[in-house]
Amino acid sequence: MIAENVKKILSELEKPNPFGEPVTLVAATKTRTSEEINEAIAAGIYDIGENKVQEFVEKYDLVHGARRHFIGHLQTNKVKYLIGKCDLIHSLDRFELADELQKRAEKANWTANCLIEINVGSELSKSGFALENAENAFLQLKKYPNLRIQGFMAMLPLSEDSAFLRKLCLSMREIYDTIRKTENSVHILSMGMSGDWKLCVECGSNMIRLGTAIFGPRVYPAAAI
Ligand SMILES: *Cc1c(COP(=O)(O)O)cnc(C)c1O
Repeated sequence: MIAENVKKILSELEKPNPFGEPVTLVAATKTRTSEEINEAIAAGIYDIGENKVQEFVEKYDLVHGARRHFIGHLQTNKVKYLIGKCDLIHSLDRFELADELQKRAEKANWTANCLIEINVGSELSKSGFALENAENAFLQLKKYPNLRIQGFMAMLPLSEDSAFLRKLCLSMREIYDTIRKTENSVHILSMGMSGDWKLCVECGSNMIRLGTAIFGPRVYPAAAI
């Protein structure tokens, strides 16, 4: 089933987005076993993303042949576990995190590839810079010598209103295009999950993060009674 899902999605992604860019598929692997993840890789996945540091670390040596992304909220006290191991951090959402990444990366003589997370729906439950501060955040964050800012990431709110979601997506694309004009390092717009990726790609996303669409519904371990 995993292999079938991967092949189907990859075939849909053979077509570029409306801006002529190829779309990268990142498998969101939270709660999945290393066997499931390796199955997805065997079927054609090149990029995998965890959203908890503990899972990132636990599966690190058990999974082979993919670029490693970190896509979840990153606590500063856990930054050290990603240094030297993570190909792209999607969730650079505050300056305090940038400070810690800079400190640790510099010590290790390493550069952290990062996306700036934007709270595009202004949701209290989500972190990230406000859309209106995106450009300013970029200008500040690009000064950190051991961070390489490669673009932006956003998670859309849950909504049935596709016109509203489209508007949010296009406003992300607008910021991305504005900054990309002068910044060669910026080339990634990470938007789209299982429920909304087609809309996101239509509006200019060039990286999507899919869990359920690849692996099926997530089953979280039952709470101990
Ligand atoms: C879990 C997760 C995804 C994928 O979610 P699905 O709805 O299962 O596709 C994408 N992005 C982030 C940040 C996630 O935590």
